[in-house]
Order: sequence, then structure tokens, then C-alpha cells
Amino acid sequence: MKVLVAVKRVVDYNVKIRIKADKSGVDTANLKMSMNPFDEIAVEEAIRWKEQGKANEVIVLSIGPQSAQDTLRTALAMGADRAILVKTDDEVQPLAVAKLIKAVAKTEAPDVILLGKQAIDDDSNQTGQMLAALLGWPQGTFVSSATPDENHRITVIREIDGGLETLSLVCPCVLTTDLRLNEPRYASLPNIMKAKKKPLDVTTPADLGVDTTPRLTLLKVEEPPTRKAGMIVGSVSELVEKLKNEAKVL
Ligand code: AMP
Repeated sequence: MKVLVAVKRVVDYNVKIRIKADKSGVDTANLKMSMNPFDEIAVEEAIRWKEQGKANEVIVLSIGPQSAQDTLRTALAMGADRAILVKTDDEVQPLAVAKLIKAVAKTEAPDVILLGKQAIDDDSNQTGQMLAALLGWPQGTFVSSATPDENHRITVIREIDGGLETLSLVCPCVLTTDLRLNEPRYASLPNIMKAKKKPLDVTTPADLGVDTTPRLTLLKVEEPPTRKAGMIVGSVSELVEKLKNEAKVL
């Protein structure tokens, strides 16, 4: 089984982000960048399948500027076999990302494409679903368990509002990872060194014949309103009194 994993370079989840003064977006200058946490989970899952003999090749793919190579090297150090960078300095929105992944899938012909359920920078939660639709492949989103079998099927458990849903998907298929799928490993120093020698191909949206012109216009980005301080009440009757007379919710 050949597995393609899409990994995005995003602002590290520990960083407190700042909005640009003109409200045109998030200020990413000099910020620590890392692999999107859901994509780390996707890479980890693919590597585990390889270790269990269920996958024979793990390819990682990123769309972004030259610096996205760092993210790909991290995935290679975790255990992926080779990497592809679709290099662009332009903004690439989820539909264009899905089209680029589809174009790569045409030549690579993977059995499974793994993505994160969402990228934590713009929280779109769209790319996997769009990709499955463009390819006409089955999809399992928000997956918290995924078990490939010899019959070219993958049994997945999905986290949905009402509980858990189990699906049996025929490959080729698209999966998006949820938090509980696994705990990603840290790359060891020897593996980081080895990853420097693993193959990393660079291509461009033009090479793949994909127009990445944004379809959506960002109007403005604002901080959420700051919350008012809470208060500690002395008794249940005081709480009820305040809910009735101050908050007026009872
Ligand atoms: P989104 O729909 O933007 O929330 O992203 C969902 C998933 O799509 C991410 O977790 C990644 O697996 C993949 N993805 C989104 N943008 C990119 C990108 N620029 N390069 C590689 N993968 C991406």
C-alpha cells in the first residue's frame, strides 16, 4: 500500500498570535513555525502502517514556500520515505490545495491519502473533503482509528456529534485525522541526520497545471472580544439571585 500524506507548515500551536495593525491577517514575521499537529498524527499513522508491514511507501507532500522544506524534513525524520514540495509564495486556499494534491495523486497513484482534519492556522476543515470529491474517492473524516486489511479496505472509526461511527472504505480513499488517532513520535537525532539524505522533489503549481488564484476574499481579521471577569458567589441562593436579577437568565 502506498500512502500519501499532506503536511502544512503553520504557526506553532504554542505561539500567541498577533493580528496585523491593518487587520489584513495574522502577523507571522519571526514566529516559530511547525508541522500542523493533525498532520503529525497523519504522518505517524502512515509510519505505523509501514512498521506493521501494511504500507510499503510513505510520501509526504507540502504546498508552500521554500521554508516548507523544513516541515517535510521533519516528516522524513519521523520515518517517511520521500517528500514532494509544491513550491509557491502565493496564498493557496483549500480548493487549490485539494486540486494540487489531486494532481500529485494522478502521477503517484497512492492507495490512501492522509490529511489532518484541519490546519490550525485558518481552521478551514475543507481540504480533505474537497479532495475526496474532486477524486471521486470514498472519504473518512475525523478518524480516531484506521485499520487497513488485505482486501484493500480500511476500517475507520469516526468521531461524530452523536458518538462513534464505523465505516469500511475501499481503497483508494481519503482519510482525515482526529486528535485521538495516535500520539506522534519525536524524531531522534540520528533520524534527523538521515532525513537530510532522503529524496525531496520540488515542483510548482504551474508544472502541475493548477491555477491557484484565490476564490475567497478576506475582509478583515479581528481579535475576539475580551471576556469580562467572572465573580465568585458565596452561596447557591446568591447565585440564583444574581442569575435572576443581574444576568436575567432565570
Ligand atoms: P484545512 O482544510 O486548510 O483546514 O486543512 C486540512 C488539511 O489539509 C491539513 O491538515 C493538511 O493535511 C492539508 N493541507 C492544507 N493546506 C496544505 C498545504 N498548504 N500543504 C499541504 N497540506 C495542506
